[in-house]
Amino acid sequence: MRIFNTLTRQKEEFKPVVPGKAGIYVCGPTVYDFIHIGNARPMIVFDTLRRYLEFRGYDVNYVSNFTDVDDKIIRRANEEGKESIEISERFIKECRRDMEALNVRPATTHPQATQEIPDMIEMVQQLIDKGHAYEVNGTVYFRTRSFPGYGKLSHKNIDDLESGHRDEAHQLKVSGEDEKEDSLDFVLWKPMKPGEPFWESPWGKGRPGWHLECSVMSRKYIGGTLDIHAGGEDLIFPHHENEIAQSEAANDATFSNYWMHNGFLKIDNEKMSKSLGNFFTVREICEKYDPQVIRFFMLSAQYRSPLNFSADLIETSRVSLERILNGAEKLAEIIAKENGKEISAEEQRLLDEELPKFVEKFDAAMDDDLNTADAISVLFELVRFTNASTNETSSSAFAKKLYETLFTLSDTVLGIHLTRSKAEISEDEVAKIEALIAERTAAKKEKNFARADEIREELKAMGIEIKDTREGVKWQRI
Ligand code: AMP
Ligand code: ZN
Repeated sequence: MRIFNTLTRQKEEFKPVVPGKAGIYVCGPTVYDFIHIGNARPMIVFDTLRRYLEFRGYDVNYVSNFTDVDDKIIRRANEEGKESIEISERFIKECRRDMEALNVRPATTHPQATQEIPDMIEMVQQLIDKGHAYEVNGTVYFRTRSFPGYGKLSHKNIDDLESGHRDEAHQLKVSGEDEKEDSLDFVLWKPMKPGEPFWESPWGKGRPGWHLECSVMSRKYIGGTLDIHAGGEDLIFPHHENEIAQSEAANDATFSNYWMHNGFLKIDNEKMSKSLGNFFTVREICEKYDPQVIRFFMLSAQYRSPLNFSADLIETSRVSLERILNGAEKLAEIIAKENGKEISAEEQRLLDEELPKFVEKFDAAMDDDLNTADAISVLFELVRFTNASTNETSSSAFAKKLYETLFTLSDTVLGIHLTRSKAEISEDEVAKIEALIAERTAAKKEKNFARADEIREELKAMGIEIKDTREGVKWQRI
């Protein structure tokens, strides 16, 4: 597999530290509110990376943190008159619920900063001992210029960064950081303020800085050198640059061999923000659309491209996904017949000669820096092929083989189920649909075809299409 590495700005062949294993660390959300639709992009994309590597036989150790101590959490706790931990625990639960809806598998480990404080203190101490960090009045700073590779990920020059801090003395006074040796230095450990959560440390009561968390937790749960570190592109600087400085200075080893960053999701071509009124949580969006459609939508673009979210585009994704689901349904119907027919010679030829071509093409797309957009095009081609090569006379055994391949690529690897989620239709609606279908069946028995047609139209107006089959009436959302 080739991966675009932010560090080298080129696609490189993926070679793990230990053959057959992949250690992946993905920066997770700060849990002070419901996750928003932008946060869902890295979750879905890197969950797909994990699934694909597993499909290719890798043993994947996938670690993604919850940042559960942070200014935003503390602010919300104060506003609601609660403890910080009540806020973070609540939103971790909500986040896990959203992930489940989006079919994002739980990580191998989801570490939480507040549960790893002794390890944080240990890394700060290591950095102090090695001369990479210093303490002033209870704050510990990283001595940025002591790390020669600073800027290598974001391709920034350290002197340009320094001169970027024009009016430096004034800025530092404003931020209360005028005690720093250098304006480039950043915080590893901050002293407690009244009303804030704190832990005892050799530098007094306080809490860890955000960048430190990821360096510590990735080392603990994966090791000194990660295979892949991932997150949204906004994290490249300063978060990931600082993580590299901390980890490489502490461990004397390459922090991560590959860096993957997803592009940003915009809403109607605008940056999502609360003040613009275009800020949506995953929960809100899942009330309007099937979460499965959202996952499909996110994967319909290559992860590094910017992605625009709009009602029209989601609708297009819904209709596209239907084509795949309809193809799968057609196969499922042939399988359900259990016709006991032998696979014919022509069917066997298609399985041996044609079917593998789609799998190869799918793999080639995924191998090319996780090009899920092209992989989804292959799914469409595969569905066209299964539609064209099956009919009522096909053997169930043949349909089963086709279904298995479609299932592996769509469900196992991309995480897109082949069956419609009934959850998108409320129980009341289902009851109403079924009552109308029963009424239509009764009308037909009484030869009242006018009423039967009327009901078909009524259902159509509700977005429901019905099909008369030998097994009875079947319905689906159109
Ligand atoms: P945060 O909670 O802000 O640290 O974000 C958690 C993850 O979501 C990070 O990997 C961010 O880069 C990512 N992220 C935040 N906003 C967006 C967005 N609009 N589009 C894509 N990714 C985003
Ligand atoms: Zn991080």
